[in-house]
Amino acid sequence: AAATEAPKWKLNNGLEIPALALGTYLGFDEHGVMTSTNKQLRDTVVSALRLGYRHVDTAAVYQTEAEIGEAIAMCVANGTVRREDVFVTTKLWNTRHGRARVAEALKDSLKKMRLDYVDLYLMHWPVALNEDYSFASIDYLDTWRGLEDVQRRGLARSIGLSNFNRQQVARVIKEGSVKPAVLQIEAHPQIVQQDLVTYAQSEGLIIMGFSPLGSLVSRFGMEAGGPRVDDPTLVEIAAKYNKTTPQVLLRWLIERKIIPIPKTVKQSRLVENLNIFDFHLTPAEVATISAFDSNKRFTFPSFWQNHPHYPFEKIKNPIRDPFGRK
Ligand code: NDP
Repeated sequence: AAATEAPKWKLNNGLEIPALALGTYLGFDEHGVMTSTNKQLRDTVVSALRLGYRHVDTAAVYQTEAEIGEAIAMCVANGTVRREDVFVTTKLWNTRHGRARVAEALKDSLKKMRLDYVDLYLMHWPVALNEDYSFASIDYLDTWRGLEDVQRRGLARSIGLSNFNRQQVARVIKEGSVKPAVLQIEAHPQIVQQDLVTYAQSEGLIIMGFSPLGSLVSRFGMEAGGPRVDDPTLVEIAAKYNKTTPQVLLRWLIERKIIPIPKTVKQSRLVENLNIFDFHLTPAEVATISAFDSNKRFTFPSFWQNHPHYPFEKIKNPIRDPFGRK
């Protein structure tokens, strides 16, 4: 298998971040978040590190931290990588907001991952929830101070935000003491969000893009229209570079200076998704792909839309929270 490494980009605090991350959210079914069986995820992360992946994206709520930690420990023990060669991103879950509670939440994640620091700790959502998933009235700025604290203590090298809108990012920049290093948002041809991207990049934040394969892949039956894997426009661009349409979408994010976070548990796709650093798209091709924009999200928790800090546009008929223990 071809070994390659993603380039590293500079964060606004002087540290570096690998420009491609392995996604590790395994999805959900009627029982809740799905977990890996037979250590499938651990073995995927081991393969990824062997192939040259240097950045893994997880979150407390994905329930994948333990297997990721096991994979990193194995790869450090057998000399595949050193701890400092791997960039680990995890996220604070909504039920653990509040300045005084952040350190404990992060310590739980660190313990599961067998690490003494993470490279990046993100606030997963601006929305604070109680244990029973009822709304909590904690201001995300108070929680942000908790992220600043854990960075000061060395438990997280960098800190950032996820699923924040432009006004919320601006407020954290204005009122916080530490500027977020990263903003993680949904990013694929149907949700281009160029305004938010341009704004955050002009403020010096690095953008990470989740669900980068968008409508190319199946999404638990969710339909949002959008280009499929055999879309003629994408196929034509892919053929020109001898690449696949998923590779073209990942490269489209790189051209926009966004870190893609493709998730796969398949060896051949690990290789495919990493091999995007030996070609470029022209500005016209970037614009052609951006023209698929329909402002459609797959991650759209409208069941939180009456929360005062809900980040997205409200809809008429919000769906029920599949996991809400109301
Ligand atoms: P992706 O866009 O990464 O799509 C993943 C799906 O595509 C999987 O079903 C995978 O299947 C399939 N796939 C992967 N590579 C290929 C390929 N080359 N060709 C065809 N199919 C492929 O979506 P995600 O929603 O998982 O997002 C990626 C990551 O972003 C998550 O894992 C998570 O880390 C992060 N994320 C963050 C969120 C946040 O709120 N901050 C929200 C959602 C995601 P298979 O595994 O079988 O290959």
